[in-house]
Amino acid sequence: MELVLASGNRGKIEEFRELLGYEIRSMSELCPDIEIEESADTFAGNALIKARAVYERVGEGYIVISDDSGISVPLLGGEPGIFSARYAGEGADDRENLLHLISKLRERAIERTPAYYTAAIAIKSSAGEYVVHGWMHGDVIAQIRGDGGFGYDPCFIPEGYEKSLGELEKSVKSEISHRARALELAKPILKMLERVHT
Ligand code: IMP
Repeated sequence: MELVLASGNRGKIEEFRELLGYEIRSMSELCPDIEIEESADTFAGNALIKARAVYERVGEGYIVISDDSGISVPLLGGEPGIFSARYAGEGADDRENLLHLISKLRERAIERTPAYYTAAIAIKSSAGEYVVHGWMHGDVIAQIRGDGGFGYDPCFIPEGYEKSLGELEKSVKSEISHRARALELAKPILKMLERVHT
């Protein structure tokens, strides 16, 4: 069974390898010139777009996994949601997106409000398409706290904790994260596909 992750992000590939326990090849190795437009309006839709695009290129011998994730703030109408990676504009980096979220909260004089991360993971092989989700609930604050994690982590306090993900140990996030939870649900699907594709 050959697994491919529909992402060129090295950190993500390592995280998937570690959490799933499978050897995984990268999209940049198998189809380096691929361009994918994430045009759906849900995390699941965008994860499926990526999985289908890579599957079309690599062909039937592969199982393609993809993910799409982001943070949503209900008091901001669900923003940034699927636009998390480009909240401060096309090509914005993680820091700019984080500062943009904080400025949006401050504009509305919000110091702290509920928020959640979503991860959608899509799996595609000749045996079909599957999508699973994981969520991590908590609060966002209009402040940067700590420098751990990435993206919006320094302004996110997970439910049941006092500290932000920028301050908490990495091991805490690995246990409770939206991606870890979605990957737990992806494991039995991959286990089944391993038997189907031998
Ligand atoms: P993508 O799934 O790689 O498209 O990432 C979406 C964006 O959501 C990232 O650029 C981050 O800004 C944000 N994001 C997703 N997961 C996390 C997380 O675990 N911590 C912080 N930010 C995240």
